[in-house]
Amino acid sequence: MATTMQDEGKQTPVIELRDVDKHYGDLHVLKNINLEVDKGEVLVIIGPSGSGKSTLCRTINRLETIDSGQILIEGKPLPQEGKELAAMRAELGMVFQQFNLFAHMSILDNVTIGPIDVLGVPKEKAQAEAMELLKRVGVAEQASKVPAQLSGGQQQRVAIARSLAMHPKAMLFDEPTSALDPEMINEVLDVMVELARQGMTMIVVTHEMSFARRVADRVVFMADGQIVEEGAPDEFFDHPKSERAKEFLESIS
Ligand code: ADP
Ligand code: MG
Repeated sequence: MATTMQDEGKQTPVIELRDVDKHYGDLHVLKNINLEVDKGEVLVIIGPSGSGKSTLCRTINRLETIDSGQILIEGKPLPQEGKELAAMRAELGMVFQQFNLFAHMSILDNVTIGPIDVLGVPKEKAQAEAMELLKRVGVAEQASKVPAQLSGGQQQRVAIARSLAMHPKAMLFDEPTSALDPEMINEVLDVMVELARQGMTMIVVTHEMSFARRVADRVVFMADGQIVEEGAPDEFFDHPKSERAKEFLESIS
């Protein structure tokens, strides 16, 4: 759901990776990755387990360092450390397979702690905004509970609300529904579909192919640390070019 290009030509991508390489010891986990995500674009990354998808996501907000190459956020290099890095991280929402909520805090406090502590939003304002977000993801009535009292699907929706509370420039989702019971997958995907529809810039690692087909502007297929092919979802799913992608799509269908 990318926005239309400006008259003057191409806009600056929200996220850009240039020739990114990374090793874990002898393992070459990211091989010359080049990737651009434009404002409002939904990029879905798929590929076999171990292909480097999570590592790629983690490098983007510098939970992992890279060996060489560049990562730019709105055209600016990723800060290396300190306050600038913390500020940049806050601008990229990240939702993982595990919900990572603070277990000892209420749902409301989970959503307000970032805005209050990092952004300096006054408590009442933060709480009002948090309630709006919790409403948006359908869990407002759970606000005073602690995470363990919620289902997995509800916790993951809280995790999304918590990220949104920081007003991120983009959202990164790393297999957000993989740890969920099947009946809860759609309630989380529905929230993501709605976010995409509202124009959020998103990178989504997922095995949910019907979601990818429906929501992705572009699908990137990774294997063995490389981007093997990319394209529009219908083109990719109906006519994969590489043998590797054909094999993968057959293995999951
Ligand atoms: P994916 O998300 O596509 O399943 P990952 O990015 O998690 O792939 O992992 C890519 C490869 O890197 C795998 O072989 C994995 O075992 C390895 N790997 C991931 N994290 C680490 C780490 N912290 N140290 C060493 N190897 C790692
Ligand atoms: Mg992974």
